[in-house]
Amino acid sequence: MKLAQRMQHLGTETAFEVLARANQLAAEGRDIINLGIGQPDFQTPGNIVEAGRRALAQGHHGYTPANGIPELRAAVAADIEKYRGVGVDPDQVVIQPGGKPTMFYACLMFGEAGAEIMYPNPGFPIYESAIRFAGATPVPIALHEETGFSFSADEVLAKVNERTRLLIINSPANPTGGVVQQAELDKLVAGLEQWPEVAILSDEIYSRIVYDNQPHISLLSYPAIRDRLILLDGWSKTYAMTGWRLGYAVWPQACVEQVTRLCVNDHSCVNAATQWAGIEALEGPQDDVDRMVAAFDERREVIVDGLNAIPGFRCVRPGGAFYAFPNIEGTGYSAQVLQEKLLNDAGVAVIAGTSFGAYGEGYLRFSYANSVENIRSALARVGELLAS
Ligand code: PLP
Repeated sequence: MKLAQRMQHLGTETAFEVLARANQLAAEGRDIINLGIGQPDFQTPGNIVEAGRRALAQGHHGYTPANGIPELRAAVAADIEKYRGVGVDPDQVVIQPGGKPTMFYACLMFGEAGAEIMYPNPGFPIYESAIRFAGATPVPIALHEETGFSFSADEVLAKVNERTRLLIINSPANPTGGVVQQAELDKLVAGLEQWPEVAILSDEIYSRIVYDNQPHISLLSYPAIRDRLILLDGWSKTYAMTGWRLGYAVWPQACVEQVTRLCVNDHSCVNAATQWAGIEALEGPQDDVDRMVAAFDERREVIVDGLNAIPGFRCVRPGGAFYAFPNIEGTGYSAQVLQEKLLNDAGVAVIAGTSFGAYGEGYLRFSYANSVENIRSALARVGELLAS
């Protein structure tokens, strides 16, 4: 067999490999605390599960429109109006099996040999993978601990050039929990006026998981870039629905037909019952979301304080998502070596910062989507391992 050249450029998401390894060790009888995978440890709220069950019972078994059922697209538009205060045409909403396909499609749509795509580093690993797969050149936007893993608009703008086709922004961010401040977004948008052909993908999958009463600032609320902005969000994190596979994007009008074709070519449509469950998620009571976010907030305090108490660790307080990204340089270990040691010797699954790009060296990602009890035990184990 002779595989296509492009297959050499496909990266991966290490969290899935660590999850498999952690599960394997657990199956062998090891006591493993998993702070590796980025998914809420809660069940999907009952009213949403019931809506999915009802949809199946009512016969929603067939294909749906490739871009999603109109009822769900309308519900997404209403939700965006409610939480972002921005009016959106439901025809620009495209329903996807999760958040991921949107980043893949955006890279396929704008990436090709000679094109540059800018992406956060450390950042969600699929950005770099999809950029390379599309044949484009990935240009990292370095995120710095000193600024709470926000970004510097000046640094971003200094790298934009005539080859730049797409700029990927993610706030609140994986793996750092960093939140970009409004002043930086204002500056970025103002600077991008000089580059009207650069498209922007704003990955806002953690838009509802923000702390300290900070509002989520959406790039969708900037009229100057509306005609070239792709907004990515979804149900996975907000409603603990990672396994349902449901996400959405708002695309510029000019791209809607093309992205719908990508859907037709790729997966035809999202599971019909899942889409009806998605409507209930958006339109039903939001108390469970509030409860989950409050629980994450409590765990954030525990994990950040706990990590800072471990000699060799230094951890900034994340403003959103459910990840802590401590600096581990003081331990003398590289990120990969410490990841391995923690899993094998302490039974704690975490992810090396380098799994999120070269700028992640010297850091580990701890997902605190786990109980306070497990987080405390994991912290104790990390402390003991490093002290020994
Ligand atoms: N974007 C970011 C930043 C993420 O962290 C994730 C999942 O971890 C996704 C998108 C993908 O979400 P989904 O599971 O809905 O595809």
